[in-house]
Amino acid sequence: MPARRIGVFGGTFDPPHLGHLVAAGEAAYRCRLDEVVFVPTGDPWQKQHRNVTEAAARLEMTRAAVDSDPLFRVSTCDVDREGPTYAVDTVADVRAEYDEDVDLYFVIGADSLENLYTWHRVEELIKAVKFIALNRPGHSRRGVDTSFGVDVEFIDMPAVDISSTECRERVRAGEPIRYLVTDRVAAYIHRHALYRD
Ligand code: ATP
Ligand code: MG
Repeated sequence: MPARRIGVFGGTFDPPHLGHLVAAGEAAYRCRLDEVVFVPTGDPWQKQHRNVTEAAARLEMTRAAVDSDPLFRVSTCDVDREGPTYAVDTVADVRAEYDEDVDLYFVIGADSLENLYTWHRVEELIKAVKFIALNRPGHSRRGVDTSFGVDVEFIDMPAVDISSTECRERVRAGEPIRYLVTDRVAAYIHRHALYRD
């Protein structure tokens, strides 16, 4: 039996939006993945000088976002691990969640891939996984340096120009986020009054 093909999709997911779901779905379809594991980053974590929403809330929203798709699941490994989140640890922990040998594919947007060569222990990481890179409006694959031996398959997904930053800003401004995030994620955000300062 060939090894199962598992996508690992790390992110802040603050909040998870339809761009994330289209990306994961397209990666699964194009690369015949058996499962995509969404892995929200741990706490404490600083991103571009802003405070990230607590991990428990991002985890809950990510679960709500993927719940209706049997191909998707959520791993808490980055949230459970102490200290900053590094992809090399994520990949090792997700691998350990399986009893059998699996092939891991790191699913990533073109924007995040641009600085891959600066990542913590990147030589180890690129030996452990193949990358599936997705286009993202405003970022081209030409911006990606693959000269250091990373194995990347570029996938063209239907472009979705949504970011978590935009979702947060819209909530703050009292604007609707319906159709940018799933109804369950929108309900969670409103119920917990997230992103209102
Ligand atoms: P923020 O605006 O807070 O940076 P984000 O929308 O970029 O949030 P992240 O949680 O940072 O979302 O992204 C997780 C992963 O999903 C990254 O690999 C990112 O490149 C990818 N991604 C996010 N949004 C899209 C999108 N609209 N199209 C393709 N890939 C995306
Ligand atoms: Mg981002």
